[in-house]
Amino acid sequence: MKQIKFAMILGIPLFALVSQTIENKLNVLDRTAYELSVKKVPNKKLINLEQNIPSVILDIKYATPKNFTKQVIYQEAKAFARIPVAEALTRAQNEFLKLGYSIKIFDAYRPYSATVKFFEIIGDTRYVASPKTGSRHNKGCAIDLTLVDTKTKKELPMPTEYDSFRKEAWAEAPVSDPEILKNRTTLIQVLSNSGFKVNKSEWWHFDYQGCAGFEVLDIPFEELE
Ligand SMILES: [Zn+2]
Repeated sequence: MKQIKFAMILGIPLFALVSQTIENKLNVLDRTAYELSVKKVPNKKLINLEQNIPSVILDIKYATPKNFTKQVIYQEAKAFARIPVAEALTRAQNEFLKLGYSIKIFDAYRPYSATVKFFEIIGDTRYVASPKTGSRHNKGCAIDLTLVDTKTKKELPMPTEYDSFRKEAWAEAPVSDPEILKNRTTLIQVLSNSGFKVNKSEWWHFDYQGCAGFEVLDIPFEELE
């Protein structure tokens, strides 16, 4: 209403403001709209990664208060992704297993309302996704992960902790420790060969490259199974 009054003062035609608002409005699918989209394109289905790739380890930080928000964001510690993303992750996991490593997932599909919550807490789109666009996590197309040694189950040393806002977290940040450099290189190489692209400011964040047409979703985990 404030916006409309302001537009009238400026003499901007109301129809222009309304059409702009519609253009800017993000298409967020609820459960019903999502189920309809899956009927049309079965590949859009979100599947449970722990059930489909039993060797992966889950450490879902947003299901605990041990994350940058210090709040429990998810009611369940689960990881979901669209079918082609899960298939690409399976290919990557098979390669890692040959090297004696396993994927450990910190976060995968993230309901849109969680992205809105992150923005409300941080308020800076340099560090969290803008609610105007949503995140690729909201599309079930991004995975946050690291590697563990399959024998010791310990995480491989990486340049920073998960969700660090420091410059050292950048995917191409200089690393002096050769072991850490090797671990980050292996992580990025294997995932790149499997169809993912690393986020330039987060070594742990990987976007699947075949997600055109996959919508932002807002469905809590408990409604997915
Ligand atoms: Zn991420």
